[in-house]
Amino acid sequence: MPFDAYDRPIQYLRVSVTDRCNLRCVYCMPEEGVAKFSHQDILRNEEIVRIVRIAVETGFVHIRLTGGEPLVRKGIVDLVAELARIPGLDDLSMTTNGILLRQYAEPLARAGLRRINLSLDTLRPERFRQITRWGNLEDVLAGREAALAAGLRPVKINMVVVRGMNDDEVVDMARKTLEPDWHVRFIEVMPLGAGVHWSGDGVVSSAEIRARIEEALGPLTPVPGEVGIGPARYYRLPGAAGTVGFISAVTDHFCRFCNRLRLTSDGRLLPCLLSSATIDLRTPLRNGATDEELRALFMQAVVAKPRGHALAEGILPTSLPMSHIGG
Ligand code: SAM
Ligand code: SF4
Repeated sequence: MPFDAYDRPIQYLRVSVTDRCNLRCVYCMPEEGVAKFSHQDILRNEEIVRIVRIAVETGFVHIRLTGGEPLVRKGIVDLVAELARIPGLDDLSMTTNGILLRQYAEPLARAGLRRINLSLDTLRPERFRQITRWGNLEDVLAGREAALAAGLRPVKINMVVVRGMNDDEVVDMARKTLEPDWHVRFIEVMPLGAGVHWSGDGVVSSAEIRARIEEALGPLTPVPGEVGIGPARYYRLPGAAGTVGFISAVTDHFCRFCNRLRLTSDGRLLPCLLSSATIDLRTPLRNGATDEELRALFMQAVVAKPRGHALAEGILPTSLPMSHIGG
């Protein structure tokens, strides 16, 4: 397993398979979308498979597909099937907005996908349309059911909380974890992409969300052993089967636990979500680089990981949009 310069084990690769999306969440993208990569710029299936194989051979054990919206990539089921066949890759998951999940859940599960994270910021249909600009809440809820029926478990709901947009729903969302198969994680909005509009006042800290939930629904007890592979901390409400998680990207320096690299859909490795430094894999890949040379570039990205970010001090990072980085 590779270790970075600060002795953190780096074993989790988030792979953005497209920069396109079928929604326009207000904190992520402007309505007109963002400048798109050209078709030739985007990695082809066999290129992604080769990079992931090398990552797995280097010691990466968790691979998550993201975007943009991964389900709008043509041939996504074939890509999942090819990735799932890579020896040693046991944990293949996806983050999706769920709009197309109803039709894709079963084929994805058959192809070898293990788990799904579903982004869902509200339980109110009208508000869902406002936040996503044109999405249909019903599609996401049906997608969630389809994922569970296909065995893609657990389905973790990611809710980005923005003051004045949906923070009045944190208690309702937490209450859902009293129902079977609801796991909810609250994410502080980050000043990335369109999210820059909500830096400062828009951020509702995990501490505040937690206090509101506990006041309404009772104490949250830490869930022992439930550490996950990401930066979330997990708790449970009295009598709940599901978990409540917090991802405090802004107010808590979880950088010390960071275990990931990101691959953009145009083939660059990002040592850190919040830094604009990238390492180009696509050019060497297309110029005939050997596996050994590509592995060395991976290690270069691992070593280039910075110690941390300074969001809490108001220092803003890269201007790359989330849909390009692979949030
Ligand atoms: N389209 C897919 C989705 O929405 O699940 C995958 C890509 S999306 C960029 C990945 C995650 O990033 C989503 O959960 C989304 O809510 C989150 N995200 C986007 N912009 C964000 C921001 N400014 N701050 C915090 N999270 C953000
Ligand atoms: Fe699309 Fe995901 Fe960004 Fe929403 S958060 S606009 S679904 S990429």
